[in-house]
Amino acid sequence: MIVNLHEYQAKKILKRFGLVIPEFSVASTTDEAKEIAEQLGLDQAVLKIQVHAGGRGKAGGVKFAKTRTQIAQLARELIGMKMINQQTGPDGVIAHKILISKPVDIVREFYLGTLIDRKSAVPVLIASPEGGMEIEEVALKTPEKILTMPFGFDGRLRSYQLLRLAKFMGWEGELAKKGMQTAAGLAKCFIETDASLLEINPLVQTKGGDIVILDAKLAIDDNALFRQSEIVAMYDPGQVSLQEAAAKEYDLAYIPMHGDIGCMVNGAGLAMATMDMIQLCGGAPANFLDVGGSADKEKVAEGFRIILSDPKVRSILVNIFGGIMNCATIAEGVIAAAQELKIRLPLTVRLEGNNVEEGKRLFRESGLKIQSADDLKTAAQLAVG
Ligand code: GDP
Ligand code: MN
Repeated sequence: MIVNLHEYQAKKILKRFGLVIPEFSVASTTDEAKEIAEQLGLDQAVLKIQVHAGGRGKAGGVKFAKTRTQIAQLARELIGMKMINQQTGPDGVIAHKILISKPVDIVREFYLGTLIDRKSAVPVLIASPEGGMEIEEVALKTPEKILTMPFGFDGRLRSYQLLRLAKFMGWEGELAKKGMQTAAGLAKCFIETDASLLEINPLVQTKGGDIVILDAKLAIDDNALFRQSEIVAMYDPGQVSLQEAAAKEYDLAYIPMHGDIGCMVNGAGLAMATMDMIQLCGGAPANFLDVGGSADKEKVAEGFRIILSDPKVRSILVNIFGGIMNCATIAEGVIAAAQELKIRLPLTVRLEGNNVEEGKRLFRESGLKIQSADDLKTAAQLAVG
């Protein structure tokens, strides 16, 4: 799983790595926006909603104010705005904060990003002189305009790599120096924050001849959060669905999906196999949920409540292979939650392994209406209906 940061949080971190970012501040109310305009002496400003999704410009979440009065007006419009696009999913996300900064005169927009390339298992720098638009689109239409350079886990781009980057981007002289410094800082920040993605789109060349960061997206690998306490404190649970926030609280691996069959499984591999089987049987999973190997009754019950709180779910499949996990624990958790919430949805259960007979007995004697199956395919067929 991955922890996403807001643009203003990412920029705060990037500043510490010596990267050039136009002065900015964050407001949660119109009054705060007015104060910021005064403090920064702004008569013009860019205002941007802070949500965990890109494409804000196109969705009306980035506005330009030409006067101080307009700054307040636009702030009022943007704070509390709900943005819906492909990246947010059908429910959209709400902006509780906006970033306010001094507008920059743009000469050219570039793309610069770093991520882990899972195929070659190394960090890579991705660059394009075609910034400001979606990089996936550039990759599709004009792949020759994208440069991909692997680098080491020390976060250091070598001089020859930086020179190659400058040439590819068309940077010369002072501009090349500034651009190379920026790339070096990004690579260092990427490694030191244990990021899985750091994306600057756009990186811009200004009229004054500077290279500055206008937008920043930073996502952190949550396996590294134990040594990223500053980032843990920045996490904003208001940007994910209620289900995701609850799962995080109970330390359950939960990922929402678009289908209507709720899944409760133990083990990530089995969970993926279960989702594949549902698909093969003509259905679509509503979620990925791995209750893990060490869950107790309460955690299982919470997982079940999370599945049930998703209004899309019209059928539930519980698929457990008891190894360390005890089938009776699963049965107790599911039964407790199902009785408490008086579920009416069809419930299909497939249990195998550790203490399976006891688990089955508990389900049989629970009084719940359950379709039980001994193998995964039958279970999936029953769940899809
Ligand atoms: P996104 O749409 O969520 O990626 O939000 P961005 O922060 O990237 O903003 C969208 C676009 O607004 C950028 O690609 C820029 O073209 C434009 N933009 C943002 N800040 C400024 C600025 O200070 N000056 C100018 N001229 N354009 C800006
Ligand atoms: Mn952007």
